[in-house]
Order: sequence, then C-alpha cells, then structure tokens
Amino acid sequence: MKVGTAESEPGKVSTGYLSVTDLPTGQSERIPVVIVEGDESGPTVWVTGTIHGDEPTGMEAIHEFVARIRDESLRGTVVCIPVMNPSGLRTNARTSYYHGDDPNRYFGIERGDGETPPSVQQLICERLYAEISTSADVVISLHTSWVATYPYTILPRVSYGSNREKADTVELRDRIIELTDAFGLPAINQFSHEETERRSLEHTLTGAAVADGIPAFTPELGGRFVVEQDICEAAVVGLYNVLHAFGMVTEPASSSMEFELPAETDLKRLVHPHADTAGLVHYNVQEGEWVQSGQVVAAIVTPHGGTKTRVNTDHSGYVLSRYEGIAVYENDPLLDMAVPDDEPLLREYRG
Ligand SMILES: [Zn+2]
Repeated sequence: MKVGTAESEPGKVSTGYLSVTDLPTGQSERIPVVIVEGDESGPTVWVTGTIHGDEPTGMEAIHEFVARIRDESLRGTVVCIPVMNPSGLRTNARTSYYHGDDPNRYFGIERGDGETPPSVQQLICERLYAEISTSADVVISLHTSWVATYPYTILPRVSYGSNREKADTVELRDRIIELTDAFGLPAINQFSHEETERRSLEHTLTGAAVADGIPAFTPELGGRFVVEQDICEAAVVGLYNVLHAFGMVTEPASSSMEFELPAETDLKRLVHPHADTAGLVHYNVQEGEWVQSGQVVAAIVTPHGGTKTRVNTDHSGYVLSRYEGIAVYENDPLLDMAVPDDEPLLREYRG
C-alpha cells in the first residue's frame, strides 16, 4: 500500500508524507502518514487526527497507538494521519490559514460547473479523501471539543434512499454502533437530522464516509488546546479495541479510565440552553453531570457580581461541555448537552 511517500511492507511501520498543495513560499504542504501493515492481510482501518489545528489529542493518541501496535502481530493494515490540518496546528487554530475556512466541512462535496473554482482547502480535502475512501473499512476521525468537556463519541446520522437500500443502511448503522461500543466512550447521536443538515455535517470526514457506505465515527477526546492524558489513554485503548472488533488483534485491551454516561434512552447532541441576556456567566453545573429539566444551570451576573438572570435548562440530560469564556451576549450558547433522542439515527433521504 502506498499513500504519498509512505509505502507499506508486511510486518513494518512505514512513514512518509502526502503532498496536498504547493505553498506560495516554495515548499509543499505535506501531510504526515504512518502505515502499520500486519504480517497477514485483512481490513484497513484509517485513523485521522487534528483536522482542527487546535485539537492536539488525536495526534498524540495516534502517536501512542502506533507505538503500542508496532510490535504486535497484526492482521490487516492501520493507516494513520496524525495531522490532517498542518497549517491550523502551526497556528494553534481550528481552521487552516489559507482562507480561514473549516477543513472539516469540505468532504464529499460534488463539484458543480459554477464560476468559482474550489478553494485550496477544498482541494486538499478532496485529495485526502481520495486516498482514504479507496481503502478504508472504517474511518475514525479524532477530535476534541470545548475546553471543559466530558469525552464522548458522536454517532453519525445515516440516510438511505436515492443511493442506498434501507437494508444496507441498517447494516451500516449497526456496524457503526458495534465499532463505537468497542471504542468505549459514551456514544451520543449527532444533532437532530435537521440540525445536522443546517450545519453541513454531511460534509465532515465522518459524514462523507458514511454517505459512501464506510463505517465512520467521531470521538470527542475532551477539551481542545491541551492533551488530557487520561482521555488520550482511553482513546489508545479504544482504537486497539476497534482493531479487536475487526479481528485484527487477538485480545482486547482494557483501560484504567472508564468514561460513562448511563441513560435509559438514546441520547443526542443539543446546544442548550442559551443566555437570554448579555453578562458574565457563573455556571452551577459541570461536564459529565446529569441535569433535570427546569434546573438552574447558570446565572448571568453583572461585572459587580449581582445576578441579572438565572438560566434554566428545558431538557433533562447530561452536560457534555461548558462553553469557553464567561462573557456572553444575547443568545450565546452556554452548554453542549446530551438529551434523549426522539428520532432514529436512520432516516430516508429527502434531499
Ligand atoms: Zn474538531
């Protein structure tokens, strides 16, 4: 197998770079690639990190995962891209600096005959995705969320209809659930179907892979900017157990860290509640905590500390993240929550 200059050999770890575009200053933008090929042939697992440049945990988890499996007897191949967005990593920013766009919204976009050609970031995503989609049996897109975040995995929404039979889509959904269970973090359904569309999440790497029938999911490994070691370790164990689910290694691994959000129903992501007035936020809750509908989760205060309003949640559910920064304007979001999901993950495509 060859990805850029990385050429794999059975029983070996190969490294290299995939050149994705030329830079104005003469170098090319090179994406690092690590391929771990087993002695025996088998499935191909792709693991990607740091497509948002301020999310280093995926990168470090990949480094540690490769160190863990490099001497294992492996069936199949693991292809890792520790840094999908080098320009964002260099500037410690979510987006790339070419034009400041979010790299994780350019996958699986069909090119029209419009007057405007694709941006360089879209071209880079097309080139990366061409490599990934030709061989991937699963795509694991490692991310982090806001600084104060309980780790979880996002289960993508899955559609059937124009391009896929319902039975195949059910199988795809079940496979994704099986693999995220193996990964081990609490699995939370993506935003509602409507919100998923509104946010163009079908053009994330995970969204595009799933639309092409490739199982894919998105772990959120705690907060951005820093690597939280316990969550990073859980991710390494999780990746290993995905290999186990594919029969690529013989024994599962166990983690000293357990992350759980037990619930009686499926949960989905929801950004809720929002500030109803400008001010400074005093939170009463923290990530990982269950809150009850009607509960006061924050107070909005004046600079002198006097309470302006109290903010209740209209939903029961877990707090996944508190938003960064405490100065808010009207309608700024306060929490990412995991709340009971009243829609199935699967739905008929109506586009
Ligand atoms: Zn991200």
